[in-house]
Parts: sequence; structure tokens; C-alpha cells
Amino acid sequence: SHDVHIIGGGLAGSEAAWQLAQAGLKVRLSEMRGSGDMTPAHQTDGLAELVCSNSFRSDDAERNAVGLLHAEMRALDSIIMAAAELAKVPAGSALAVDRDIFSDEVSKRLTNHPNIIIVRERVDSLPSEGATIVATGPLTAASLAESIGAATGSESLAFFDAIAPIVHHHSIDMDIAWKQSRWDKGSADGDGKDYINCPMDKEQYLAFHQGLMDGEKTDFKQWEKDTPYFEGCMPIEVMASRGVDTLRYGPMKPVGLDDPRTGRWPYAVVQLRQDNRLGTLWNMVGFQTKLKYGAQVELFRTIPGLENAEFARLGGLHRNTFINSPTLLDRSLRLKKAPHIRFAGQITGCEGYVESAAVGLMAARMTAAELRGSPLDAPPQTTALGALLSHITGDADASDYQPMNVNFGLFPPLEGKVKKKERKEAYTARARADLQSWLGAFSQAA
Ligand code: FAD
Repeated sequence: SHDVHIIGGGLAGSEAAWQLAQAGLKVRLSEMRGSGDMTPAHQTDGLAELVCSNSFRSDDAERNAVGLLHAEMRALDSIIMAAAELAKVPAGSALAVDRDIFSDEVSKRLTNHPNIIIVRERVDSLPSEGATIVATGPLTAASLAESIGAATGSESLAFFDAIAPIVHHHSIDMDIAWKQSRWDKGSADGDGKDYINCPMDKEQYLAFHQGLMDGEKTDFKQWEKDTPYFEGCMPIEVMASRGVDTLRYGPMKPVGLDDPRTGRWPYAVVQLRQDNRLGTLWNMVGFQTKLKYGAQVELFRTIPGLENAEFARLGGLHRNTFINSPTLLDRSLRLKKAPHIRFAGQITGCEGYVESAAVGLMAARMTAAELRGSPLDAPPQTTALGALLSHITGDADASDYQPMNVNFGLFPPLEGKVKKKERKEAYTARARADLQSWLGAFSQAA
């Protein structure tokens, strides 16, 4: 018998199993690989297999949000961070690992843990009772995905392919770009200035169109080729290939947008839409793309107003299953309709190995606290863990919820004036202090 059932032995499920077992709880970890099932991206039966790159990205805890998340997870006895340390390969200021050593280490620690039993089985429906953590990832088996769809309303289980880049607001040149909704028609409670517009003249537009046609595209595995594009999600370069004016009549349409510098409609525009409640992140409307990352940065920085753009996320193409967490989950990652079930990992709409493991860590700690009868306060939003959790469980725009890496745009703005050069250190210093107080309260409760 067990106290908690974890479904999925990937990044999130492995971290959750470790955290619960270390807290003295008995865990059943169900993983379908090794029982004759495979996902389209995994290659082995190992737990916490890295499906693509071998990098956990920046390890700089002073100046980088994911580096900060590493540090916070280390402070909370993360198995993913401990195994990464052991499997580390040289990668400058990034944390990269030997993927086999990494997965072997996680598998070994979990297999040897007296509080964990690993069962190689595919789970096809959500358990009707008992504390459960669903951590089946972006490639959740179809049968379980259906069961989740039925429990949450099938609208909630989103499949998407191409995603658009997201830009940090502070890096947009507002001397060139301006705020205005088309025909000044904003949202009901708005001021008719919901969008940021970047103007292009004819020459700039033609050069940009050519850049899209010429830019280097990513190659895709067969299973990705089989996934049709949703019409509303067509990559911008695919649309551009349909004709030189297609974009000017589509996402780059200039009508109803008066450039304050000329008083006229430009030849074409690029629009950005606010992406988070804080207003620190803006996504490029209709700019989902499968251009290679380098090509995206180079080409999108030719857009007037975006010459110095810093990207919180670049566009990309993935098959991805995730739920609309901001509407479906409560602040402690429980499914509102069935609170014995928590979700963790990429299926909650975070993006990335580290983020997935971090949500697994939080889901486990919250489950453990709940089972002990002393529910855990969420980590403060000023920490990387808290910022990620807030995004998933309520702060993101639920009507256009898309997977997101951790980044400083998810943190509450800094108080007072902070010089641009000192901003990142200010975020991380605040996070460290607030994590310490949270950990203090937390160890008293435990
Ligand atoms: P996973 O690590 O996928 O773990 C889910 C586990 O659940 C798997 O082991 C799976 O076998 C199992 N499972 C699924 N359904 C069932 C079921 N019904 N019953 C039992 N077990 C089941 N992130 C990065 O940071 N860098 C990258 O380079 C990167 N590349 C990616 C490439 C692809 C093709 C995809 C799809 C995603 C990529 N990601 C990447 C995003 C994401 O970080 C990873 O997918 C990450 O592994 C997610 O962690 P997870 O624990 O949520 O899911």
C-alpha cells in the first residue's frame, strides 16, 4: 500500500517521488516506459530521461531566473539538481549533463529508496480516490489524455504546435512603437490602447518578407510532420510563402493603426499583445514560427522598435499536451473538481526540464504537508518557485494560456528605481531573502 500515487517517471514525477519519500511517505511511481510503451520522443526506459538537449540552461543564480531556480531547488534537496551535479559536463556558465549518467543516477536513487516502489505500467484513467500526482508530461499517453480531457472539459486539454516569441517590455523602443488597439477598439475596460504596434514601411516589409523566406528552419521528426497545423496557429513563414502580401492582409495588417510619428497607417505592422498580468511580457501576435532560434533573433530585431528586443521565449514547434491550469487548478496545484489529484510538470503549462522538476517538487511538498494536516503556504511570488507557481495557478491570461519558461517577467516588479544594469541582481537578492524567510516558517511547521 502507498500514501501517494505518482503517474509518470519523468522530470517532475521523479522529483516528486524523491521529495515525498524523503518526507517519510510511501510512494507508488507508475511509469509506462519499460512495460512495452514508449513516447514519440523518449529513447530509453530510464527515469528522468532528457528527451532533447542535455542542458539545464544557465546556472547563474545572481543574474538569471533559471539559475536562481536551480539554487532554490538545491536548497530544497532536489534529486534532479543533485543528479545533475553528479553528471555535469563543461558548458561555461550553463549547467549541462551527461544524459545517461544523469538518468541512471535518478533511477538508482529512486529504485533504492525504501519508501518508493516503481511499477512499470501505463495508467489509463485518473484514479477516483487517493492522493495522486499526475506528471505524465507533454507526451501523455492518449488514453490518459482522454480521461483528463473528460475530467476537465475537453476544451481544457490543449494541443498546440507553433508558438510565438515573447518579448520583455523594457526592451521595446517606445519612441518608435506605440500603444493602440485597431480602430481604438480596446477591451471593454481598456482605453483603446491594448496593443503595442511596430511600424514598417514598404522597403522594410519586403526585406522582412524575404528574411522569413530565406531564414533557416528547424527540421522535424516524422511524428511532428504528421501533426497538422491548426489554422490559427500557422507558422508565419508558412503564411509568408503563400504570397508577398499575405501577411499584410493577415497578422501584419496596418488598417486602423495610426503611427503617431506620421499620423498615417504604416505599410505593415507587427503587433504585440500583453502576455501576463504584470505587463512585463508581450507576445508577438501571429508570429508562431519554426525558424531556428538564431535566425529568429536576427530577423525579429530588424523590426522597427524591436532592435534591442530581449526575448523571454522564442517561437517553436512542439507537440504538446497541457491543461488550462489557471482555471483548473487551485493555488496548491490541486484539480479543483477532484482535489485528491495534483498536476505537476510540463502538463501544467510550465516549459523546460528544470521548471517541470520544480513544479514536481512543489506538488510533492504540498501533498506531504496536506497529508500531515498542516497545509503549506506557497513560496513567495518574489522567488523563482513562487513566480512559476503563480503563473501556472492564476496570474497568466487563461484565455491564451501557453507554456512558459521561468523568467524575471513573471516576478512582481522591483520597488523603487533600480538601474537597468542592477535589475537582475536586485531580483535575485530579493528572492534569496524571501526564500529564507519562507524556509524558516516552513521548517517550523514541519
Ligand atoms: P516527461 O519528462 O516527459 O515525463 C513524463 C513521463 O510520463 C514519461 O516518462 C512518460 O513515459 C510517462 N507517461 C506518459 N503517459 C503515461 C501514462 N499514461 N502512464 C504512465 N506513464 C506515462 N525542455 C528543455 O528544457 N529542453 C529541451 O531541449 C526540451 N526539448 C523537448 C523536446 C520535445 C520533443 C518535447 C516534447 C519537450 C521538450 N522539452 C524540453 C520540454 C520539457 O521540459 C520536457 O518535455 C520535460 O521532460 C517535461 O518533464 P515532465 O516530467 O513534465 O514530462
